[in-house]
Amino acid sequence: MHKTPNQELLVAAIKDGTVIDHIPSSRIFDVVSLLGLQGLGSAVVVGCNLQSGQMGTKSIIKVADKFFTPEEVNRLSVVAPGATLSIIRNYDVVEKHQVRLPEVLKGIVRCDNPKCVTNNEPMPTRFHISSSGQTVRCHYCDHEQRIDKVKTFSIER
Ligand SMILES: [Zn+2]
Repeated sequence: MHKTPNQELLVAAIKDGTVIDHIPSSRIFDVVSLLGLQGLGSAVVVGCNLQSGQMGTKSIIKVADKFFTPEEVNRLSVVAPGATLSIIRNYDVVEKHQVRLPEVLKGIVRCDNPKCVTNNEPMPTRFHISSSGQTVRCHYCDHEQRIDKVKTFSIER
């Protein structure tokens, strides 16, 4: 008999912290590196390829004793635009919302035009989101990239 993994274990409650749910499984390790989770020093639980009605499979990350800043949530929105954040305090979900792409991304995405000034000078990148939400355009060189293919800077902790 095929035994399904026990998802209850993976979604066990944390006392205080943040649960990031509905992450595409293909981007789970991008999220870990983008948010610098390995360097946090608090407990991080990563559940990958969990069954999900809406998405087929999804991934989930639970981070104890961590509440993400708006800047960190902006980073998350680039690689996991449909993710939901639940803020947990004393085992209760006190806040839950879906991440949203901001109109401008600062210092998050790398420009893939090697001649771009941001690849040749020590300066933060700046990107605008297209109206379709599918591409981003470099503020400095106008080069466009698909948002699901972008390379990002990671947070060093
Ligand atoms: Zn550029």
